[in-house]
Amino acid sequence: MKPKSSLGQNFLKNPGIADKIVAFSGVEQGDAVLEIGPGKGALTRALLETASRVVAVEKDDGLFELLKNQFSDEPGLTLVHGDVLDLDMSTLVSPGTKVVANLPYNIATRVVLRLAEVSPPPASAVVMVQKEVAERICAPVGHSEYSALTVLLSGIFLCDPGFVVGPKNFFPQPKVDSRVIRLVPRQNPLPPPERDAYRRVVLCSFSQRRKMLRNSLMGLPGITKQGLSDLACQAGIGLEKRPQDLSWEEYARLGRAYRQIIIP
Ligand code: SAM
Repeated sequence: MKPKSSLGQNFLKNPGIADKIVAFSGVEQGDAVLEIGPGKGALTRALLETASRVVAVEKDDGLFELLKNQFSDEPGLTLVHGDVLDLDMSTLVSPGTKVVANLPYNIATRVVLRLAEVSPPPASAVVMVQKEVAERICAPVGHSEYSALTVLLSGIFLCDPGFVVGPKNFFPQPKVDSRVIRLVPRQNPLPPPERDAYRRVVLCSFSQRRKMLRNSLMGLPGITKQGLSDLACQAGIGLEKRPQDLSWEEYARLGRAYRQIIIP
């Protein structure tokens, strides 16, 4: 089967890396794991040596058939044939589920954002992504890579930047380095009712990265000039700041104030 770049098919060919990912994930006996994109099963096999149950979602028709044959005698494995983005993530992630995946590059950010929407979030998510994406996810406040993606995930997860995996460990070789990161839920993640306003404030702020919040936040639906200064005052945030200057907690305060203004 010819690897499909449209499905981000870069298969791990170094079993040592699969073992390293599983060790880094902290998966142990008794754990339930969700794997996204099992491919030819390199990581799946390593996971089945440790976890009690693995659910693996594969979109590719040919690979799904291959996996069914390859793992037919594995009672701990449930194979799901489908596009993970079409599935309800909350049915795949039960409380305590650990996610472990070598994610297809083209959908990696959408997948991690979906994982952040599940409540309660997965016990951990150890995912391999393009190194540049990992840098955006794990960037500290004020860093040039600090972005809407960083903040949206920071409301839910803490990020451990893990380790780099070079192109030679894959077939076909990607053009870029990858990084395996670990996302672990915060003790007090942003509560679900606050997430919509939080998301709107974050996306609106970063839509004009170089501008002060005074300008970018005027793009919020339903906001007036007076409303914006009330919102900033209530949240205790200076409107001369730029989006990369604010921590996720400050965005959470802005989101709460915005919610009170639009839903009085
Ligand atoms: N886990 C394998 C490994 O480490 O060798 C394969 C990883 S490869 C980077 C990504 C896998 O995700 C491929 O098998 C691809 O077919 C699958 N995939 C791509 N898009 C998908 C989607 N939307 N839903 C589920 N699987 C997908």
